[in-house]
Amino acid sequence: MNTTENAAAIRSLEYPCGDPPSVGDAREIAPGVLWIRMPMPFRLDHINLWALRDGNGWAVVDTGLSTVDTAKAWSTLLGAAGPLRGERITRVLVTHMHPDHIGMAGWITRRFDCRLWMTRLEYLQCRVLMGDTVREAPEDGVRFYRKAGWSDDDIESYRARFGSFGKMIHPLPDSYRRVQDGEHIAIGDHQWQVVVGRGHSPEHACFYCPDLALMISGDQVLPRISSNVSVFPIEPEADPLGEWLASHAKITREVPDDVIVLPAHNEPFRGLHPRLEHLTDGHLRGLERLRERLAEPRRAVDVFPALFARPINDAQLMSLATGESMAHLNYLVQRGEARVEVRDGIAWYRRDESGHEAASQ
Ligand SMILES: [Zn+2]
Repeated sequence: MNTTENAAAIRSLEYPCGDPPSVGDAREIAPGVLWIRMPMPFRLDHINLWALRDGNGWAVVDTGLSTVDTAKAWSTLLGAAGPLRGERITRVLVTHMHPDHIGMAGWITRRFDCRLWMTRLEYLQCRVLMGDTVREAPEDGVRFYRKAGWSDDDIESYRARFGSFGKMIHPLPDSYRRVQDGEHIAIGDHQWQVVVGRGHSPEHACFYCPDLALMISGDQVLPRISSNVSVFPIEPEADPLGEWLASHAKITREVPDDVIVLPAHNEPFRGLHPRLEHLTDGHLRGLERLRERLAEPRRAVDVFPALFARPINDAQLMSLATGESMAHLNYLVQRGEARVEVRDGIAWYRRDESGHEAASQ
């Protein structure tokens, strides 16, 4: 993404809720809506959670990573001097299955004997991925990354990291309450509409409240960073970028521009529609640069410069960048704009001029 344009677009958003609350504290940003922050031991060092007044308790949306620091922060929030002191958590809603969102869900639901509410694909996919914690890296995964052009060293680091997903998640409850796209959920005095988006995760729930003009967006819309949109070894032909762009259009249709968006990272903001438009433009520009690069045959690892401004120099970034590159390559392949040829286990992509001409006639 072009950083100058990005900076200009980010400046055009408004941040009406001020500075974030400190860890262990909460800030009321609308009647009965609390903003909570949890720490994360990464370069992205926080996640936002939301507590919604629900009768004589609180419904929470997202929960934080399962770490000692998050457990401490929850204890402070719920403790004698904390903002949620003496009150019940009535239910846990989770936007999607990533560990920073679902990590503490099992811990909270067991402590308060309450239910976990989430979409079916997110719940089931999470159970599947948590099952990987005790497994060796599968041959399908090794083949997937070799095909993308990874070296033997890169593959070794994939093997070493495989299964880490479940390590930051408390065991999930064995049953859950399914939420579905378009459903209206009554929480306290308000109705929250479920708006499902795809591409960052399989069935990501956003929660939109027309009364309060708020939308809890999880990772589906973030103001200052772009969410990861990746292909993973479990479904090598997936088209998450197609789903992501379609979701931007869907959210623009279903949620008005005047909401305050409550994102999982950065700060609450106004400017939903321009932000979605800007994110879409960023991907379309990336695809354009990718098309140019595919004049010659390239592997997934050869196209990073078309999509990322920064150097891809560690194993974690390598993994994210490969998934994102595959998302853009699959997008072109599935629309007949690129062709892939596998030679000696390595996939080579090239612009498909014939397909492109046929499509534009
Ligand atoms: Zn996520």
